[in-house]
Amino acid sequence: MGTMHRASRRLLLHVCCGPCATASLERLKALGEVTLFFSNANLYPPAEYARRLDAVRRLAAHCDCALVEDTCDHDAWRAWIAGLEDEPERGERCRRCFAYSLRRAAQYAAENGFSGLTTTLTISPHKRSADILAIGQSLSPEFLDIDFKTADGFRRSLELSREYGLYRQDYCGCEFSLADRDRRHAARKA
Ligand code: SF4
Repeated sequence: MGTMHRASRRLLLHVCCGPCATASLERLKALGEVTLFFSNANLYPPAEYARRLDAVRRLAAHCDCALVEDTCDHDAWRAWIAGLEDEPERGERCRRCFAYSLRRAAQYAAENGFSGLTTTLTISPHKRSADILAIGQSLSPEFLDIDFKTADGFRRSLELSREYGLYRQDYCGCEFSLADRDRRHAARKA
């Protein structure tokens, strides 16, 4: 029997926001020592970036979990998704967007000796887990095949977010999803 205990595995969890990280972190902790990696150059406007980062900082403090805050270059993200601006949510723009953040997470994990990584993005009922996992696995052989929306993960994230008093946004993150949200709100009022 090896001497290395399973819980000593160092795992990197790419985090899109505090609420999605709650139940994902709870589950991933069973597999090792987790470091949160906040990497979300897709977020717009900057005030929204600050709000989501603040919620993740509060979660990290509450759970006594290490947090790495990646640099944010929204212009570089815009260049990365150029030509796909008018794609609908869940389409090709979103797959490119996942790849942007997961590529950074994979690079950070490789450079810093993590033996596994994954992302909170799979917990959202609005996102296709199969797309996210395929992209993650194409970027790193260490990417863990964990779909956080299984086992009632999303419901658990709502419960924990309420318990921790975390800010919960009502749009995915970029300016295009923000415009969609505003259109939905306007249509409801009309
Ligand atoms: S809708 Fe969400 S996943 Fe899609 S491009 Fe915008 S921020 Fe990224």
